Amino acid sequence: MTFKDLNISEPILKALLNKKYEIPTPIQEKAIPVALSGQDLLGIAQTGTGKTAAFAIPIIQHLSQLPFNDRKREIKALIITPTRELAIQIDESFADYAGFTQLRHTVIFGGVSQKAQVDALRRGTDILIATPGRLLDLINQRYISLNHISHFVLDEADRMLDMGFIHDIKRLLPMLPAKKQTLFFSATMPSAIDSLARSILHKPVKVEVTPVASVVDTIEQHLYFVEKQQKSDLLISLLKEDLDKSVLVFSRTKHGADKIARTLTRKGIDCEAIHGNKTQGARQRALTNFKSGATRVIVATDIAARGIDIADLKMVINYDLPDVAETYVHRIGRTGRAGNTGTALSFCSQDERLMVRDIQRLTGRTLKSTMIRN
Ligand code: AMP
Repeated sequence: MTFKDLNISEPILKALLNKKYEIPTPIQEKAIPVALSGQDLLGIAQTGTGKTAAFAIPIIQHLSQLPFNDRKREIKALIITPTRELAIQIDESFADYAGFTQLRHTVIFGGVSQKAQVDALRRGTDILIATPGRLLDLINQRYISLNHISHFVLDEADRMLDMGFIHDIKRLLPMLPAKKQTLFFSATMPSAIDSLARSILHKPVKVEVTPVASVVDTIEQHLYFVEKQQKSDLLISLLKEDLDKSVLVFSRTKHGADKIARTLTRKGIDCEAIHGNKTQGARQRALTNFKSGATRVIVATDIAARGIDIADLKMVINYDLPDVAETYVHRIGRTGRAGNTGTALSFCSQDERLMVRDIQRLTGRTLKSTMIRN
């Protein structure tokens, strides 16, 4: 499945290509066709799943295809979200995906002077992203008219509830035109959210991405797209950035583990390899040295790593991605334990790209990534 298969229009495909997003995430694959068809949507997904694009893309597509005389700068899409950070991120996503259209988007949130926001509203906007308090303020001051809204998104509904915004939302709802498409997102569905959803959605299609394997939030994950030949240089530079951290490096093969260990040793990094070809005694010694901090880096194969149990391991590096997505979850689960934070970095070469999709499917999250060029 590619974005093209989802019948996304050319200007948006071009924007996605610029971002190097090739494969839709599970929530995008399920939600985009529903939203494009004009139906109401109940999306159960957390941040990190790619849900912003799942609602932004259909909205941009609908609005950019309106006949020319309907293209006045009136607010046609309203997105409300609980925090300023989320509002800014959503606005940046609209900037990314609507870059090749004529649509304008504006973001408003509290805690800052309203002047710049009011100026932007006066210039006119098609899409408004807002936090609830500032939105109601500016509506009351008559800077915002909701009469032309055809698309309404309620993002992170359960967090709105936690943060005490439900009352604001209930005040807002009757101000919106009755005829509109509503896209409702929440990570969880407590009963108050369920009844809110029932009261505002009209025959919604429910799409859900429940992570099959959960990855705890205390692990920060990052992916590096890197050519095979560049992996060892990348590893060395990452290890040199964090000089005092203990790091567990995973290699797919025993031979690979030895090779990585030799390279690191040559560069003056204390390192040992453990795998099935080493005696039990040698493995045990390596582990003791690692736990005591005498050896900073251990390079292990999946089987050899089974015995490793270190309470406060700070970093795991996947030098190679595993063949099976579950293994990824096991590997990175060695860090971020017992409330400690941890970092999991993964290297992905051209031939490992499909694995990324499997891992994202399994964990229900999109991995943040960096492209390394030579
Ligand atoms: P969100 O859950 O909307 O906050 O998105 C999480 C992250 O995934 C954001 O940094 C997006 O830019 C990124 N993202 C969204 N869709 C894709 C995709 N199809 N491929 C790769 N990254 C994506």
